[in-house]
Amino acid sequence: MKPSIYNTLTRRKEELEQTSGEFGMYCCGPTVYGPAHIGNFRTFLAQDVLRRTLECAGYNVKHVRNITDVDDKTIRESQKQGLSLKEFTSRWEDKFHSDCKKLNMLPPTVEPRATEHIKEQLEMVQKLVDKGFAYPTKDGSVYFKISAFPEYGQLTGLDFEHMATQSTNSAGEANNADEYDRENVADFALWKGRKPEDGPNFWKSPWGEGRPGWHIECSAMSSKYLGDTFDLHGGGIDLCFPHHENEIAQSQCATGKSPYVRYWFHSAHLMVEGQKMSKSLGNLYTLDQLVEKGYTPAQIRYALISGHYRQQLNFTFKGLDDAKSAMSKMKKGLDAALEKTGVSEDEFKAYIKPANAFANTVFEGAWEALIDDINVPKALGKIFSALPEASTKADLQAFGALLYALGIDLFEDAGQHGDIPAEVRQLAQARWDAKKAKDWAKADEFRAKIKSLGYEVFDSKDGFDIKKA
Ligand code: AMP
Ligand code: ZN
Repeated sequence: MKPSIYNTLTRRKEELEQTSGEFGMYCCGPTVYGPAHIGNFRTFLAQDVLRRTLECAGYNVKHVRNITDVDDKTIRESQKQGLSLKEFTSRWEDKFHSDCKKLNMLPPTVEPRATEHIKEQLEMVQKLVDKGFAYPTKDGSVYFKISAFPEYGQLTGLDFEHMATQSTNSAGEANNADEYDRENVADFALWKGRKPEDGPNFWKSPWGEGRPGWHIECSAMSSKYLGDTFDLHGGGIDLCFPHHENEIAQSQCATGKSPYVRYWFHSAHLMVEGQKMSKSLGNLYTLDQLVEKGYTPAQIRYALISGHYRQQLNFTFKGLDDAKSAMSKMKKGLDAALEKTGVSEDEFKAYIKPANAFANTVFEGAWEALIDDINVPKALGKIFSALPEASTKADLQAFGALLYALGIDLFEDAGQHGDIPAEVRQLAQARWDAKKAKDWAKADEFRAKIKSLGYEVFDSKDGFDIKKA
């Protein structure tokens, strides 16, 4: 069985086929004007789990994720702070990378920046103009002509009439057809003529100075790194329309090739305590804010991946606490399995890698659940029921591969006892090792030391627990 996903384009679940030497996967990346929030990470993590799962299944994934480093927001914020656009976006790009690393996300194979691909974007706009799919306006902008592409709307099943009368344009701005001299309100900008508020942020083009529209960057960069037709494209569900519809239109009209993308992978949104995330509600959490509240990045990752990617995830602090206990239970299950099989922890760590190692192991069902439309909650359920049955090295190898696919880090420094100081955790481990070696005197010595630091250690069914005294 091959991994499958629900393809937004065909509206059905489909097995993913790798048709060439590599499986091309393009994901719309962050706009770098502030810290990413956990909603963004929900989407990026769903893509990370998909990529890791494909790697376990033997696919050679080429993962491209762009950096949007020029748009209204990045320009506005950089100017507010008196920084050049590059200085400003580099800071937030670095922050994004550091958060991704903490969340154990694999870096994409290629991470192109929009500002470094102006030439490719202009070439695509030129092709669209030459072929009659786009037209310049008197303010130096270039618009895509939706009426020239009758298939427009295929992803969302939207009809053109609806779009022609909608009150916002593709960038979510109020339509103002006069200002841009647009032929139709639904037409969207490929190139935006320079405006005074853009400051020094503009590039030369055959239509005058300006900057690219948002949608064109993904068409131009995906084409450059993955080809005119590629395998899979991901993003949050909000990007289906207009962003992804516009990408399809731009790419298919410019290259003359169809389809632009074979499989579309959209993840549902994250809500917080049942509400939409927003600054005004004060529930727009970043990774740092949750870490400050005492949760570890591994626990946060677990909480963010634990719902099915196609269902809205209601993020709650109870959910984070549940993630914390689930990981601790999983670690204990692993410790018991290691003891049973005589495999050392270091040896096991080497099993955490992409491998299709599931056949005839107790984890076969968990893997099947995972590759069936990336059903993480079902896979986790199956992992918990299979873990106590794990009794062979092959079982542990399968479990290691599942930990890789999910990116779950059971060995994160603060993973099991997040709130306990490292020194205490080390002493507790040393006591446990002494106990296992039947060195009771030494074990008691460590216990006393732990106590003097204000903590108590308890034996549990398959290991130890630490609590504040
Ligand atoms: P942005 O940086 O705004 O371009 O968004 C980056 C990614 O995060 C896109 O794929 C969005 O669809 C996704 N995204 C934004 N808000 C949420 C949310 N609340 N839940 C899940 N994904 C989101
Ligand atoms: Zn995009």
